[in-house]
Amino acid sequence: MINIQAPKGTKDVIPSESHKWHYIEKTMRDMCALYGARELRTPIIEHTELFLRGVGDTTDIVQKEMYTFLDKGERSITLKPEGTAGMVRAFIENRLFNEPMPQKLYYLNSPTFRYEKPQAGRLREHHQFGIEMVGSFAPETDAEVILLALTLFKKLGVHDLALHINSIGCPECRKDYNAALREYLAGYLDQMCETCRSRFDKNPMRIIDCKEPKCREIVKNAPRTIDFLCEDCRKHFEGVKACLDAAGAEYVVDPDIVRGLDYYTGTVFEVISNRIGAQGAVCAGGRYNGLIEELGGQSIPAVGFGMGMERLLAVMDANGVEFPKVQGPTVYFAANGDEPRKKAFALTQKLRENGISAEFDHMDRSFKAQFKYANKIDAKYTVAIGDEELELGIVKVKCMADGSETEVRIDSLAEHFAE
Ligand code: ATP
Ligand code: MG
Repeated sequence: MINIQAPKGTKDVIPSESHKWHYIEKTMRDMCALYGARELRTPIIEHTELFLRGVGDTTDIVQKEMYTFLDKGERSITLKPEGTAGMVRAFIENRLFNEPMPQKLYYLNSPTFRYEKPQAGRLREHHQFGIEMVGSFAPETDAEVILLALTLFKKLGVHDLALHINSIGCPECRKDYNAALREYLAGYLDQMCETCRSRFDKNPMRIIDCKEPKCREIVKNAPRTIDFLCEDCRKHFEGVKACLDAAGAEYVVDPDIVRGLDYYTGTVFEVISNRIGAQGAVCAGGRYNGLIEELGGQSIPAVGFGMGMERLLAVMDANGVEFPKVQGPTVYFAANGDEPRKKAFALTQKLRENGISAEFDHMDRSFKAQFKYANKIDAKYTVAIGDEELELGIVKVKCMADGSETEVRIDSLAEHFAE
């Protein structure tokens, strides 16, 4: 016998869980509408080149985690490992820069693939909700993107999250910073992991983000970007903090955040929970003023975040959030006998055509068992149909909540339930 299981690090969403997804998806869409963001859907696959360029070839994602393959046309294709690069590619390719700025674009339920060691909070296929706000340098833009996330968490009943913000500066400040960082790290080169040794020349800041314990120990006392900001970047960061203050949002400045993708400039942030174990970042993002140009577009600034939907659900469960209950059908037809069964089947269809959810017996259950089943699936009303009811053309509609019964003509059932 064959025994096929789902690939490691993937998860089915079974019906008793999927309603939770529907609820957060709907809340996310409503929140995006409130903030004036519109959905942009991009493919699951992209040319590998996009991520080499867009995410950066010294990042963990590109160096270790991508699902890359040659297709039958010998093209190198990669399953999306994050959302932003594809959004920016689509922004440029569809000439969205011709539309009024700023453009607020979001994606939802986007399957995201990373070849990671599966563990709590770390899947090989996870799903992201994200927003990209394109066209503005203003600190208000960074703040608005962050506030959208915070407002969403509030709306979803999650209260124990901490917002961590930092600035990693622009390419100008990065020069001084890289020099200082290299000077500090030079003495430890032979103690660092192989990946970090290769990062030392190309992109030493990446070493701050390494997950290897020995590298983490080394960088503990390394210089931090926030102490190397140029005047513009410092002012911008002050501006973002002032906006968050004005909105009454709490945050901590966390100089350790550098983010795992190369495209960030200036503001970076994470929203962290301490209730879901080591992988506590639910949402992470920042400003990326150079990416659109890097990918062949004009020089247009942008800021955004990605939110792990599985981690969000884990945080909601940890917070004891009650999800809206799934509604049972409005009507269950219990039928007794051949002719009544036919009638019940036809009536079920008729009600559905009129937008009223209805069910009948598919399992050849006894009359009594049908009522039990109606109870189990939480039907609001039951309608019993036997030969007598058919003859009279009248049925009793029983309200399951209070047991009350109403007599209704069979041919006016649709109108009755429509009310
Ligand atoms: P980490 O430092 O935990 O590896 P990251 O920097 O790789 O995180 P991002 O690229 O910022 O994560 O991804 C955005 C969000 O997507 C994360 O904050 C998290 O909620 C979620 N996420 C990332 N990787 C995974 C994964 N393997 N499984 C589940 N969710 C994930
Ligand atoms: Mg990661």
